[in-house]
Amino acid sequence: MPIPLNKQSIAGKLNLIALAVSCSAMVLVTLLITIASYFNYRNELVLELSGQARIIAENSAAAVVFDDARNAAAILEALRLTPEVEQGVVHAANGRILARYVRDHGPVTDMPPAPAVETYRVGWRHAELYLPITVDSEVKGAVHLRASLAGLYSRVLVQLAMVWAVALVALAFAFVLLARLRRLITAPMARLIAVMEDISRDRDYRKRAPVESRDETGLLANRFNEMLSVVERHQQELDHELTVRRRTEEQLHRLANFDAVTSLPNRHYFNQYLRNAVARTARGRHSIGLMFLDVDHFKSINDTMGHDAGDRLLEEVARRLTAALRPSDTVCRFGGDEYAIVFENPSSREDARHIAERVIAAVREPILFDGREIFLTASAGIALCPADASETHTLLRQADTAMYQAKDSGRNTYRFFTDDMRLRAQKRLSIEQSLRRALGQGEFNLLYQPVIDSISSRIVAVEALLRWQHPEIGMIGPDEFISIAEDTGLIVPIGEWVLRKACAQARIWQTLGLPVAMSVNVSGRQLRESDLLATVREVLTQHTLDPAMLTLEITELALVDGTHATRDKLHQIDRLGVRLAIDDFGSGYSSMSYLRRFPVRVLKIDRSLIHGLPGDHDGVAIIEAIIAMCRSLNLNIVAEGVETAAQARHLQGHAPIWLQGYVYAAPLTTDELTQLLRANGGRIELPAEGHAPARVLPFRPA
Ligand code: C2E
Ligand code: CA
Ligand code: CA
Repeated sequence: MPIPLNKQSIAGKLNLIALAVSCSAMVLVTLLITIASYFNYRNELVLELSGQARIIAENSAAAVVFDDARNAAAILEALRLTPEVEQGVVHAANGRILARYVRDHGPVTDMPPAPAVETYRVGWRHAELYLPITVDSEVKGAVHLRASLAGLYSRVLVQLAMVWAVALVALAFAFVLLARLRRLITAPMARLIAVMEDISRDRDYRKRAPVESRDETGLLANRFNEMLSVVERHQQELDHELTVRRRTEEQLHRLANFDAVTSLPNRHYFNQYLRNAVARTARGRHSIGLMFLDVDHFKSINDTMGHDAGDRLLEEVARRLTAALRPSDTVCRFGGDEYAIVFENPSSREDARHIAERVIAAVREPILFDGREIFLTASAGIALCPADASETHTLLRQADTAMYQAKDSGRNTYRFFTDDMRLRAQKRLSIEQSLRRALGQGEFNLLYQPVIDSISSRIVAVEALLRWQHPEIGMIGPDEFISIAEDTGLIVPIGEWVLRKACAQARIWQTLGLPVAMSVNVSGRQLRESDLLATVREVLTQHTLDPAMLTLEITELALVDGTHATRDKLHQIDRLGVRLAIDDFGSGYSSMSYLRRFPVRVLKIDRSLIHGLPGDHDGVAIIEAIIAMCRSLNLNIVAEGVETAAQARHLQGHAPIWLQGYVYAAPLTTDELTQLLRANGGRIELPAEGHAPARVLPFRPA
């Protein structure tokens, strides 16, 4: 079976080549030697025969001449000494056979006469020689010998055997030598292969193959090393590229998931984290608490101290939150001044309460900032998973609701999400849904509450107050739906409707000869999002109303939250001649600094400050301070929520001052107010001390 050459190792190939070369050399040599010795022996034979023939020819010349057959036969007997000769014949001159010699009674073959010259002929088995017998240059007969070549062949074979024996010994020796020499070639290759295998296994391209010779193997090793250098360089470039890419990816990841100011995870990261954490609770026994935390009034801090300072404060808050929490808890910056915290496995509500208290207390600690102390507070809302909700969205909304509850409860505190809040949230949702169609369905109307000048006791203005007649629920007060309208943005069209309706009514009263100034409440969102100036201008023109007859009431919170754009808008409205009033002054954040920045003409003191009058000394002092400040700023003052004659009398002492409250009149329908304006010249007298307040007077609708 032939062995395919390309499947052989180099050593195997070398073996085969050596074998093939030496065998063919051997065959060639023996062939040459055989041919040479054949011709050699043949020449020898021919020479021998020719010598024999010559002797016989000379000796038998006389026998031929005298036709002496016996003598001729005796002479031929000499041929017995030459074993190769099988037959010898002496021809007479006429070609007749005179005598014949046949060795060992062998077969007698035909020995025809030949031409009269010496001739020899060599065949495969026999050689024949023909020599004429001459006497005095005259041919008298001929000698004809025939010899077998068998002897020749056996001599050639013996020689061949000897040559073969010698050649085999030489071949064996050559093979041993070759095996040693072969290693000279294959060993460096084997080492090269070992290095290659090492490199491909370890991928260490710094390794190099040993260069041991200057032949092809050495060249191969050199080229291989050069290739390795290239690969190594490529590998280094690749490694470098990979590191750069990894670093960029890390940076991108940081940017996408972490907040630059506080280094906390951002909202994006948090949402994912929360989703996973909520999913883990679904597998049982695990629980989490979600807390939303909002820094109280941070916007005004930002506005007064600048954004850089604001950022540093947020950073400090982040540090404190992290320190107040356990390592297993996660805090992130949810946006603006809002943080979100997930705490793992609160063992009880009590546990969550402790965490909340710790966090709120940590924020409350005074912050030493540029050499002065800053006091921050925060409000937090907590919802538990799976106790309150087992779904991320709901959980987020619940924590948010609870946080707003904490804010409503006066801030600097925390609230858990409760069933009560759930009910309220549901109610809020249903209100939100019906609120969307309330305007189109004409479910809104306005009531008007008189504002009385304390000196003349006359109605100088009315405040338009919104009412919603829900087809199923009945009358819904603004406290229940204004904030929802704010959140949903519905306040913008609703507010515009109020403005149009109130101004239309002011026109009617003016036409009736009962002119009265009109106050309309404007929400923060309305101020920010609608083109209030254009609407006001249009409405005034439409009803040919004197701008001075219109007052817009804005809560101080809307001003505090306001931007430069808000301020510009307010200045434009002021230039129009419409008056701006600060509503609910003293109810929450009273920095007063904004009073100078905004074109405010009227200040409405919140009813919470009026409530304690006249008995509460602190309350009295505050009212006096506010009134003094308003005088210095040239602001008109309205006291809201005046419920008793005693309060009214006390405030009358600070005249000029305007008063609004149930003691004079509750919010009234247009008809009721028209009656009131007509009766008594628009004057409302205070009831005697101890008498029932105005809300039960006939003016108040049942
Ligand atoms: P506000 O602007 O402070 O309006 C005065 C509120 O005090 C009215 O409540 C009024 O009924 C009530 N009030 C009047 N006199 C007394 C009193 O002697 N004692 C007490 N305890 N309360 C008195 P109302 O009508 O329920 O409105 C509540 C709030 O809803 C308003 O507070 C105002 O902020 C908002 N609001 C009402 N109408 C509108 C509106 O058209 N647009 C906007 N944006 N907000 C409105
Ligand atoms: Ca108001
Ligand atoms: Ca008010």
